[in-house]
This record gives sequence, structure tokens and C-alpha cells, in this order.
Amino acid sequence: RAKSAGGNRFELADPEADARAITRHGLTTALPAALERGEFFIEYQPLVHLGDGSVRGAEALVRWLHPQHGVIGPDRFIPLAEHTGLIVPLGRWVLEESVRQARTWEARHKDAGPLRVNVNLSPMQLTHPGLVSDTVEILERAGLEPGALCLEVTESALIGADDDLLKPLRRLAEMGVDIALDDFGTGYSNLANLRRLPVSILKLDRSFTQGMQHFPADPVDLKIVEGIVALAHSLDLAVTVEGVETGAQADQLRELGCDTAQGWYYARPGPPDQLHELALADATS
Ligand code: C2E
Ligand code: MG
Ligand code: MG
Ligand code: MG
Repeated sequence: RAKSAGGNRFELADPEADARAITRHGLTTALPAALERGEFFIEYQPLVHLGDGSVRGAEALVRWLHPQHGVIGPDRFIPLAEHTGLIVPLGRWVLEESVRQARTWEARHKDAGPLRVNVNLSPMQLTHPGLVSDTVEILERAGLEPGALCLEVTESALIGADDDLLKPLRRLAEMGVDIALDDFGTGYSNLANLRRLPVSILKLDRSFTQGMQHFPADPVDLKIVEGIVALAHSLDLAVTVEGVETGAQADQLRELGCDTAQGWYYARPGPPDQLHELALADATS
């Protein structure tokens, strides 16, 4: 037990917290070299149309293959990269790699409908002055049309956003890039505020889907989702749901009018070929 200097507050010695702190620090300092050495890779999780079950694209989810610790998930290192600013070059790499991948799906899969790619953007990338020009350049270099790209921005990153923050997103939306509001329903955004955001897709957070795990689902939960879907559609926004783990959830969400779904019920995040195979299976079924 250590008493903090001068105060009457006690801090418990917590060896686990120390270990975590060291790891955090260790991971943080290892990030730049990891990017240079190519230790990051991307998994793609299919996005499925709830109406007909067809695969429409995938969300790009970055992972770190650490030489000592194995695969590390983004929840552990994205906040660190955000903190140090490394998220800007890392995010640019994710975008470039995902756009290139989407172009490859397109080329290998001419007969099916277009396969789109969703890429997550961190708050710091939003304020980076190169966002629009980098994105344009990356799309042009890969030869991918802007409509095949969707950028996901969390609701919390846009809460209280002023016009300066929204301007680059507006530019991208005008070019045809879709903007999705990620983790929708976890923040405290004013629903009326949705009108000023240049978004075309709401991604309903996994917590809503989890509320439907039990049968019968809580009628209040259902009413809330129904209300959000109605509002979204009245504003011309499509609704994607995250974290669909069972067929019963998928049925329920389809009935509630959701447009697109993503979750383990359909597929876990996986290598780029998984998407190609699923899309191919669609085309031949
Ligand atoms: P997100 O954008 O909300 O992504 C969805 C997360 O839900 C992913 O976690 C995905 O693997 C997980 N998931 C998908 N289906 C299911 C399901 O049925 N059940 C459950 N329990 N989970 C499911 P993941 O891959 O660990 O990513 C976590 C977060 O890290 C993402 O949340 C996103 O905010 C962030 N992230 C991932 N890649 C990037 C990136 O390239 N850039 C930035 N800035 N953030 C990223
Ligand atoms: Mg996302
Ligand atoms: Mg999400
Ligand atoms: Mg989420």
C-alpha cells in the first residue's frame, strides 16, 4: 500500500496494472517499427444484405502480428496509435491496402454485384489535413470508384462536430464515398443533429443486437430499434447492424427493417479470399 504524497488517498499496489502499463508502454514504443516492418494485417468481415442474404462487401479490421505476443486486436493498439499520432500513417496504410483489395475483388468477380469495402477512421485522421487528398489519390491509384468505399466514423467522434471537422467528410461524400456512423446508439448524439452530418449509413451498435439474444426479446429493445430504423429511413439513411450472432437475431432485425448485417452468424473476420469465396457462392446459388 502506498499513500500518495500529501493527500489522504490510498493507492493499492496492483502488479497486474503494472504489467499492463509496461505492456502498454512497450506496445506504444514498438508501433512505429511494426508499421515499417509490415507487422500489421487486415481481416475482412462480410457485410450481408438482410433482404436476400447476398454479400455486399466487407469491413476492414486491422490486426497486429506481434513477434512476441502473437496477434493483437485493434482495441488494444488503436488507442495507443491514436495517442501518439501513428494512427495517421497506420490508417493511411489500412485505407490503401483495403482499397487495393476491393479493386482485386472487383477484378476477380466481374459478374456479381459490386463488393464494397468499409474502412474505419479515427478521430485524429478526421482532423488531419491530408485526409481528402490522400483518399482521392489512393482511389485513383487503385482504379476504384469512390462509390465502392465507405468510411466509418464513430458517433462519438462526430458529437458536437463543427463545420471545420465536417468539411472533409462532406467533400468525400460529394465525391461519392459513403460515410457510415459507426457504433450508433452508444453516444449521446442529438437525433435531430443527424441531418447535418454527411452520413448515408447508420451502423447500429452491437449492444442493440446483444439485447435480442434472448427469445422473446425485450419488447422495449425492439421498439427502440424499430424507432431508430424508421428515423434513419425517413432521413434516407441505410441501417447496418453489427454483432449478429444467431439466425433468430437476423430474422428479428430483418423484420424490424434493417438493411445490412454483419456478425459471426454470417462470418468471422477473415482473409480477403473468404469474401471472394462467399461472393462466388452467392453468384452460383
Ligand atoms: P468496429 O468498427 O465497431 O468493428 C466491429 C467489431 O465487432 C470488430 O472487432 C469485429 O471483429 C467485432 N464483431 C463482428 N461481428 C461480431 C459478432 O457477431 N459478435 C461479436 N461479439 N463481435 C463481433 P475488432 O476487429 O476487434 O475491432 C474493434 C474495433 O477496432 C473496431 O470496432 C474499430 O473501432 C477498431 N478498428 C479496427 N480496425 C481499425 C482501423 O483500421 N482503423 C481504426 N481507426 N480503427 C479500427
Ligand atoms: Mg467499424
Ligand atoms: Mg462498429
Ligand atoms: Mg462497434
